[in-house]
Amino acid sequence: MKAMVLKEYGKPLVLEEVSKPKIGNAEVLLKVKAAGVCGTDLKIQQGLVPTKKLPLIPGHEIAGVVEEIGQGVKDFKVSDEVLVSYYVSCGNCRSCLAGRETICENLKGRLGFEFNGGFAEYVAVPEACLLPKPSNISFEQAAVVSDAVATSYHAFVRRAGIKEGDYLVIVGGGGGLGLHAIQVAQNLGANIIGIDISDNKLETMRNLGVKKVLNGQKLDWSKAVFNYTDGRGADYVALFACTNDTVREGINSLRKGGKLVFIAYSTEISFNALKCHLNEIDILSTRAATRSDIEDSLELIREAKVKPIISKILTLEELNDGLALIKNGDLTGRLAVNIK
Ligand SMILES: [Zn+2]
Ligand SMILES: [Zn+2]
Repeated sequence: MKAMVLKEYGKPLVLEEVSKPKIGNAEVLLKVKAAGVCGTDLKIQQGLVPTKKLPLIPGHEIAGVVEEIGQGVKDFKVSDEVLVSYYVSCGNCRSCLAGRETICENLKGRLGFEFNGGFAEYVAVPEACLLPKPSNISFEQAAVVSDAVATSYHAFVRRAGIKEGDYLVIVGGGGGLGLHAIQVAQNLGANIIGIDISDNKLETMRNLGVKKVLNGQKLDWSKAVFNYTDGRGADYVALFACTNDTVREGINSLRKGGKLVFIAYSTEISFNALKCHLNEIDILSTRAATRSDIEDSLELIREAKVKPIISKILTLEELNDGLALIKNGDLTGRLAVNIK
C-alpha cells in the first residue's frame, strides 16, 4: 500500500510502498478515505512531540471504511463507514474508569504517534476506537471531528463547565481548531470574545457570528476585554495559542475566580503567580478528547448545530505541502488529505 512515512525528524515525509498492516483479534483493517492534518502533525514531523521510534506513518484524524475484521470484533462489520478516536487506552485504570482515557495510566499509545496512523491507504484500528460516521458529512469532515471539534468539547464541557451567558475569550479563534471551538461555545450559549492576529482571521470569526473580535497584536487586549464586560472580566479564557503574551493577557482578562484553560501548550511559560493567587485564578489543562466527547460532538454534527470546516483538501502525495501551509499559519479551517 502507499503511505507517507516519517523517516527522519525535520525532513519531509516520504511516499513509500509498504506492506498492509496485519490486524489483531479485536482490530479492523480500515481503508482510509480521509485523514485530517493538524498542527500536531507538524510538531511530530519536527520531532517536538514524543512518538514511537521512526519510521512512523503519522495521521491521527482518520475516517474510512471497514475492509476486514478480526475474529473478536463484535459491533462493526465490513463496509461500515467510521471515524477513529485515536487514543488506545487500557479501559481499567482509575482514569479510564472515570471516563478520562486521554490520561490513561497505562496508555498503550495513540494512532499516528505511537502506532502507525492514517496517512496511508490502510490502517489497523482497535474496535474500541471506532465510531460510526454520520451520513450528513463527508469523510474529510468526519476525519477531523475527533480532534478539531471534540478537543474543544472536552475543554469547554467536560473540563471547564462553560454555561449559558458566561463570558469566554477564545485566543486563536480564527484557526482550524478555534473555528470549531467557536461553534461549540455558541451551542453552550457563551458570550464569545474572539482573538486572533490577522484581519483575515478576525473576519472569519465575524462571519461565524462572533460579535466581539479583537486583534491580539495589540498587546494589552485584556483592557478591551474588561471594557466589553463592563469592568467585570471574563469567566473563562481558552488558549488555542500558548505564549508568554497570551498567558499574561489571558490572566489579566479574567474576573476574580476565573479560569484559564490551556488547549495549546508549550514547554515553558512564565506568568504572574501572585496575580493568580490574589484572584484565585484556576489554571486548567486539557488533553485531547475522550470517546464520549467525540460521541457528543457527533451528535451536535448530526443535529447540524456544529459543522466541521475544511478549507483545503490535498492528495496523500501533497501532504508535505499541507504541513508547509500549517507552518505558514494562514489556513482558516482544517486541512485534510483525501486518499483514493
Ligand atoms: Zn490533530
Ligand atoms: Zn487506562
